[in-house]
Formats: sequence, C-alpha cells, structure tokens
Amino acid sequence: MSQPTQPAASAAAPDLRETDLFAFCRKGGSAAGDLAVRDLPRILAETAADAPASARDEVFHYTLTGFAHDEAAEPGAPATQRLYVDVTVTGQVWLDCQRCLGVYAEPIATDMRFEVVATEEAAEEASMEDDEVDVIVGSKKFSMLELMEDEVLLALPTAPKHVVCPTVHESLVTGADGEVEPEAPPEEEKRPSPFAALAGLKTKH
Ligand SMILES: [Zn+2]
Repeated sequence: MSQPTQPAASAAAPDLRETDLFAFCRKGGSAAGDLAVRDLPRILAETAADAPASARDEVFHYTLTGFAHDEAAEPGAPATQRLYVDVTVTGQVWLDCQRCLGVYAEPIATDMRFEVVATEEAAEEASMEDDEVDVIVGSKKFSMLELMEDEVLLALPTAPKHVVCPTVHESLVTGADGEVEPEAPPEEEKRPSPFAALAGLKTKH
C-alpha cells in the first residue's frame, strides 16, 4: 500500500482547540484541513438517527486565514491594529426531510469574516461601530474547533427539506399520456371501507 502523500505539517499549524488567535491574526497565519464529524458532538446531535453509518466518518473541509489591519480612528491619530480571521467550512450534514421524512445530506458552505477583539467591552464597541462584521472575543487558547462547529450549526436550515423529495406524492403521479390521473382509481371504490369491515366484524360477534 502506498503512503498517502500529505503536506509536511507546518510548525505554524495551529492546534484547533487551543489557538493563540491574536498571534495567528497578527502574523497572517493560515491553515486548512479536515474536521471529523465524530469530533463535533453538537453536529452529531443534529445528525438524523437514520443517517447512513458512514455519516460519522464524514469530514468538513476548513480554511482559516488571519490578518491584521492598521486603522486610524481619526486623521493624524495613531493607528489601531484590528485583527481579523476568515473562516470557511464546507461539507454536509445528514438531516431528516420535513416533507417526506427521509434522510438526506444537507450541503454546508459557510464563509465568514470575524473581527477578533480582546474583551467583551471591545466586542460591544466594535459591533456598534460596524454591524457588518461579526465580532469574537479572542484568547491565547481559543477553540477554532468550537467556532467552526458554531458556524455549521448556524448554517443548518430551520426547516430541512430535500430540494426534490425522492418519493413523489401520489396526487402528483401523471398517466402515460401526461394527464393527471383521477385522484381515486375506480377499482378503489369497489373495496369496502375499513369502517364497513369493522362494522361487519362487530355484527358477527
Ligand atoms: Zn424529502
């Protein structure tokens, strides 16, 4: 068996559970890789009970890109360094379709930019200044894993559905000539209703 070729692990690759997010952004760090669904308990909790066994072995692909931006609040004022991280996560989550109740794979593709600040107060201030950018409070042991799991959870539809359900409702079945068939075929009418059958049973006793 040939060894899979893997890029040499960079010394700068962050530990996704404990990243120094400030340093990552300041030095313009970047990382990419796979997240195993089995390491994401909250995604597992959302996964349909009837999902294929392989659902646990699936992965999300992620990219992280940190950068810093010097910004002067006012002309002539000393520049403030603002830190940002771009996060993308792609993959799929197995969900129950609300229309046909079958399981299906919902594609996930998130692409977010976060401003990284040091304190809750700074976060409030930053989101008041610019409500376009989502703000997170960074730390020296920041869990990028949890942030990415959050992003996948937020990307899940509130009403999960197949784009097109595999089983077509019988009222939509069309005849060979393309015309819609009558709702109840004539043969159906000859069958006794379940209530009539019940009534028959009762009189026999
Ligand atoms: Zn469906």
